[in-house]
Amino acid sequence: MKSPVSQVLKILHDRYAALRDGKVADYIPELSHANPDHFGICIATRDGHLYEVGDTRQKFTIQSISKALSYGLALEDRGEEHVLSRVGVEPSGDAFNAISLKAGSGAPFNPMINAGAIATCGQILASGGQSRIERITAYLSRCAGGQLDIDQEIYRSESETGHRNRAIGWMLRNFGIIDEDPHDILETYFQQCSLRVTCADLAVMGATLANQGVNPITGERAIAHEYVDNVLAVMASSGMYDWSGEWIYRVGLPAKSGVGGGILAVLPGQLGIGVFSPPLDEQGNSVRGIRVCMDLARELSLHMFNPSAVPQPALRRSYNAAQVNSRRRLPASTFHALRRYGDRIRVMELQGPLLFSTFEPVIRELVKQAAYCQHIILNFRYVFSVDAVSLRMLHEVWQQLAGAGVRLVCCHTGRLGKLIAASGIPDDVLFFSEDAALESCENAVLAKVLPDHVQQPPPVLLAGCTLFANCDPAELQLLNERMEVKTYKPGETIIQTGSRADELFVLTAGSVEVRLNLGNNRYQRLDVFSAGMSFGELAFLDASPRSADVVAIADVECRVIQRPLFEDIGKLLPGLKAKILNEIALQLCDRLRQANIEISALRN
Ligand code: GLN
Repeated sequence: MKSPVSQVLKILHDRYAALRDGKVADYIPELSHANPDHFGICIATRDGHLYEVGDTRQKFTIQSISKALSYGLALEDRGEEHVLSRVGVEPSGDAFNAISLKAGSGAPFNPMINAGAIATCGQILASGGQSRIERITAYLSRCAGGQLDIDQEIYRSESETGHRNRAIGWMLRNFGIIDEDPHDILETYFQQCSLRVTCADLAVMGATLANQGVNPITGERAIAHEYVDNVLAVMASSGMYDWSGEWIYRVGLPAKSGVGGGILAVLPGQLGIGVFSPPLDEQGNSVRGIRVCMDLARELSLHMFNPSAVPQPALRRSYNAAQVNSRRRLPASTFHALRRYGDRIRVMELQGPLLFSTFEPVIRELVKQAAYCQHIILNFRYVFSVDAVSLRMLHEVWQQLAGAGVRLVCCHTGRLGKLIAASGIPDDVLFFSEDAALESCENAVLAKVLPDHVQQPPPVLLAGCTLFANCDPAELQLLNERMEVKTYKPGETIIQTGSRADELFVLTAGSVEVRLNLGNNRYQRLDVFSAGMSFGELAFLDASPRSADVVAIADVECRVIQRPLFEDIGKLLPGLKAKILNEIALQLCDRLRQANIEISALRN
């Protein structure tokens, strides 16, 4: 099946394949041998998928497109201020080969015209045993994701005829923009322009720029993150020579073209485009390349200044601990205290990328909530990235909330946890799960509102167990005699998923955890029961296999009603079975009610 995306490329290719406008460059004699019919279009997505149509694997020389990338290398070698002191970033409005240098300083207007590119070449260092051209080749190869080589014929041809560029080189030397004999720099520049690429290489280079400098196919960092915006900025303002203004107006993508017939365009954060077709217009831009990019931008809505999606606020939903609690079962009095005071704990589930525009509404809400809450839990489960600005603001808001007596904790931070901790937020407010965070906040609230609240209830006698709340002494005595005592060490499994349910457990000491097994040693905590509570009723009543594991999380003592005893109990003491069933029914009612409150809070 053909993807509709490939279909769009195919239609564009068909639309312009017959276009005969433009002329193959011949001022470099070897370039005149290019086949004017070669025509390829390629899109590379930010996750490294290629859509291609036509001659996307035909090699040609990169020419001026190399200027954008070698500018990145110069910035990495010398830093922004130094490079800016030698080469400006103003569009010149002149042709690519103009001898256009700023009056006074003699600095070229920008690195995309020849003068600026030759000066930029002079900034690149030979280092690590590698010459300038070796470093440039390696750098561009990393951007393309494959080893590039020099077309020696074209290099020789340009070197033999490049008198105008030589003149520019000597002008730059005269103004001290380059500090050495320009000869070697010019040869490096000619070689850099003669690197052979394909249209697919250009698209991948574009996707590398779109992907903040990491090649999406190899996963390798090709361009330092901090200079990606500089490279894209000069492409946007000057990449298409003296047609740059019109290009950014009509197409709206940072781009660079070369007289070999290539155009590389980038939609930052999204994709790279490569087009190859040798016939050029008067400015030296590929005629078909320009038409294809204009149509692509319109048909796929790629114009940078007309974003089709605006980032959504990162607040997914929000609730308090009077609505949703941690998974442990609480004794009735404690549970009611949470219903009453749970609004002191606010949970905010976040989603998507955190950047200024998505995180700002969250901050607004945090500041508002600070007036009502003592604890705020930020759940990062559906957050896939956090930028430096959001991290800084998160840290600031955390500090300010702490100053105002509000504890901000984070949970489900996963691989973002390291970044969050590095922002200065202490480890002890980062929780593995929302459940653990809620439990910690609930304990803090309960400690205030219920002075006798204990996290681990002490052992109880049968009379203290909810299931037997209404039993009289004779009934309790019978149960005491007949119910088996079982003990477990922490970590021991009491109930195994899938096993037969022939026992009803009453917990008289310690706590147990009900776990849903997710495989691969991962599990989800469903419930925690402590002394006085019972578990295992569901499968016991409807005689289905156990649906979860139950594991001791402290030294546990249980009293167990085996199925035969349960069957007989009514005969032994009339009314006892009904009392027990009645109590189970009440507990299930409570749980269902609680579940309904949670579900309605979570549906918001
Ligand atoms: N090597 C070519 C030159 O210096 C590059 C020009 C271009 O692609 N615009 O003339």
